[in-house]
Amino acid sequence: MTVDFIKIGEKWQKKWEEDRIFEIDAGDPDDKNKFFITAAFPYLNGVLHAGHLRTFTIPEVVARYQRMKGKKVLWTIGYHVTGTPILGLAELIKKRDKKTLEAYNKLHNIPMKELLKLDSPEAIVEYFSKRATNAFKKMGFSLDWRRNFTTDDGRFKKFIEWQFLKLKEKGYIKKGSHPVRYCPCCDNPVEDHDLLEGEDATLVEYVLIKFKGRIEVDGKEEECIIPMATLRPETVFGVVNAWINPDGKYLVVKVYKEVDGEDKLEYKGIWVVSEEASEKLRNQGRVVEVIKEIKGEELVGKTVINPVNNREVPIYPAKFVDTSVGTGCVMSVPAHAPYDYVALRDYYRSVGKELKDEDLIPLIELENYGKYPAKEIVEKMGIKSQEDRKKLEEATSKIYKEEYHKGILNENCGKYSGMAIREVKDVITRDLLEKGIGEILYEFSEPRVICRCGSKCVVKLVKGQWFITYSDEEWKKLAHKCVDRMEFIPESLKKEFHNKIDWMKDKACARRRGLGTRLPFDKDWVIESLSDSTIYMAYYTIGKTINIHNIREEQLTPQLFNYIFYGKGDIKEISKMTGISKELIEEMRREFSYFYPLDWRCSAKDLISNHLTFMIFNHVALFPEKFWPKGIVVNGYVTIEGKKLSKSKGPLLPVEEVAETYGPDVGRFYITTCAELPHDADVKFKEIEKVKDNLEKFYQFAQEVADVSSGDLNYEELSVIDKWLLHRLHKAIKLSDESYNTFQLRKVGVLFYQLINDLRWYKRRGGNNKKLLRFVAETWVKILAPITPHLCEEIWELFGKETYISLETYPMAEDRYIDDTLELGEEFLASTIEDIRRIVEIAKIEPKKIYLYTADSWKYEVLKIMNENKDKSIKELIPIIMRNPEFRRYGKEIPKLVRDIMEVGVKPVINEKEILKDGKSLIERKFGCEVIINGKDKKNKKRQAIPYRVAIYLED
Ligand SMILES: [Zn+2]
Repeated sequence: MTVDFIKIGEKWQKKWEEDRIFEIDAGDPDDKNKFFITAAFPYLNGVLHAGHLRTFTIPEVVARYQRMKGKKVLWTIGYHVTGTPILGLAELIKKRDKKTLEAYNKLHNIPMKELLKLDSPEAIVEYFSKRATNAFKKMGFSLDWRRNFTTDDGRFKKFIEWQFLKLKEKGYIKKGSHPVRYCPCCDNPVEDHDLLEGEDATLVEYVLIKFKGRIEVDGKEEECIIPMATLRPETVFGVVNAWINPDGKYLVVKVYKEVDGEDKLEYKGIWVVSEEASEKLRNQGRVVEVIKEIKGEELVGKTVINPVNNREVPIYPAKFVDTSVGTGCVMSVPAHAPYDYVALRDYYRSVGKELKDEDLIPLIELENYGKYPAKEIVEKMGIKSQEDRKKLEEATSKIYKEEYHKGILNENCGKYSGMAIREVKDVITRDLLEKGIGEILYEFSEPRVICRCGSKCVVKLVKGQWFITYSDEEWKKLAHKCVDRMEFIPESLKKEFHNKIDWMKDKACARRRGLGTRLPFDKDWVIESLSDSTIYMAYYTIGKTINIHNIREEQLTPQLFNYIFYGKGDIKEISKMTGISKELIEEMRREFSYFYPLDWRCSAKDLISNHLTFMIFNHVALFPEKFWPKGIVVNGYVTIEGKKLSKSKGPLLPVEEVAETYGPDVGRFYITTCAELPHDADVKFKEIEKVKDNLEKFYQFAQEVADVSSGDLNYEELSVIDKWLLHRLHKAIKLSDESYNTFQLRKVGVLFYQLINDLRWYKRRGGNNKKLLRFVAETWVKILAPITPHLCEEIWELFGKETYISLETYPMAEDRYIDDTLELGEEFLASTIEDIRRIVEIAKIEPKKIYLYTADSWKYEVLKIMNENKDKSIKELIPIIMRNPEFRRYGKEIPKLVRDIMEVGVKPVINEKEILKDGKSLIERKFGCEVIINGKDKKNKKRQAIPYRVAIYLED
């Protein structure tokens, strides 16, 4: 049988839309039986693909389930278009870029004629929002479309303006020079979304300590600065030499620093730095004028003066110095830095000298170590030379950690002696900066940070940049409080979110170009895409009124939003000022107060450290506690036949293609059940076909009972196998409830496959109660409806029902039908058949009679005792059993029996004889011979039987 899933899909989608069954309005505020679920909205620079399909179908299914549980479910979606990628795409299409046209033609399925028209951001937004809507509809999503919007809609922008005015009012927005990730090619700050590589890279702060030296300029010896870059400025007291890469390219430059807020430069002297470092200085607020280029070896043999103690130290060559890190000039502290110790020892050896203790300057006291921790650990680990990189890394990180947490500065450190490293680091940094002998240089924590355009990103100090102050400690406290109260799936996310909040730094929130909302207080800037997408769930609640009543953007004033979200202000005045009727203002306030807070936010795992964390921050900043988000669900990624998805290279598997090839239900079932929620899902086309087969089997089963009238079942009149099927059904309802409530949709899939098996077993066991089967079918149609709603509507109609299954009530599990011994009985019967089959196979005979023997009754008594003492070992069990004098005469057999039972499993006692009698005809049919239960004891077999394992004798 083949079922036309595509046709069935179209039929029901049309009906749902005509009857508008998924449109939802706020209900009684005193009886908030609501469920508000959202997914991170899609970014529209391409079609929706397999990754979107997974992330959106999960909440879609849960929304349908909750609707059937009687909740008022708000489930809708908007489109994200903010930022530069859409601009970039429009430019590429305008330029007729071959690669882009090919990718969008083939992978995104856009006919070339259409594609060439998409040469403006507006055309792209319009085109892809249509495609996205079409994709959602074709998959049968139960969205309230009246609330849909795009982020460049003027009315949504008014909402974002309100958000930013509020954040500024609360002191969470500030302006300043700040280091940001920057793409020199795109000439724009770079967000996580814009990166090909290096998303996890953070900014680290090097301190440049200005050692003084001399360098020849135009034939004259001039004083110069050789800045040493370090992450451990406190160790400057222990410097005994400096390192330069002899093969490295260095520049002698004049450095000027831009003065914050003023249009002038401050001369900072002649510096010697690596070529790469000069570029970093340029990006970070300095003007750099090159005098000449030199090779590192020209510096070797010179001396420099340590600015904190005026000690003159030599410059030595070292290959380990990487000119792309810091300034390419490194201060050497061999008493505490294993690298320096080993490099210095190597250098001394190369000039025929021995490195002695008095050549080192200790500066940190550390318990469990002597004066020279670096030397100690190098000797202990047997590090031979600088080539021992792995061991050196290990030694460095060990010493660094111990010194940081337990080290105390010693008498060599002047006024800082006696202070703990942990506390002194910031103090010394501040003092160095204040005295003008230190400066800050920012670097990425990872070497490769690559923009979507393919260029290497740099750290750039942007002047006059607007920031959201996510580093604010008070704000972080609120965010932590929110996370404490929230539910997370999987649970481990709670800890992860606490960590993310701890690590949050201020974030640049606006750019010079791109689509989006202009900052209301500085119109030269456009709010970037991760900052205008943090509280838009609130806009879903009011978007309905705004869309239906064509409220214009100029009517959406901050005062109006204050009233809707806070209940602040005088409604009469606001109504007069905005020209919006009081009723509509009240409606928006009612919708917001009814559906807020958000119950669940769904997303793939890439948004944890940015979007989802920002969502928490912005909610706690802008809304009272009762409106803070309640839960976050995160799913894994999607690959296709092992390949990562790519918008430019493929594979993509557009959502529309899934609907058009397999039908919506097959796609929905597959994508929600093919992997556990947090795991990555690998789409395999063969498996999709299998899903189709099984859904067809289910349809066939439903057709078989379509004409049966449903009615009351008299439990007492049911046979064992009927009762078993009913038990399985109610257990499935119970488990499906648990699974839907915890987003474990794969488990519902497993239950469905079990049903297919159960029906097969029921039939084999001679089960044929049509009324019961009809009841099972009706119930299962409801269990499956959230996942495969079209097929379930079709069956529901086939059953003569006039309602929509989508709006039916979810079945209730009834404990009185749940009886686990029924299940144990059937398992026992199946395993008995399996045992017989194996023996027949081994004996290679065709039996004429099969004798089955159940265990002697005393053995069940032993099983009973074992059930009562499940936590005991064999050694402890035997004396307990022997307490009963009845068992003494079986004394010799008991230890073996106990062991055997443990092997088979300690399960509740069931009536095996009755079960075998009930299943006798099945066994007889299966083996084509007579079965005798507990008949004459042939060959003394009966004594081999134990509970749950019959003894078997074959007669030929
Ligand atoms: Zn770029």
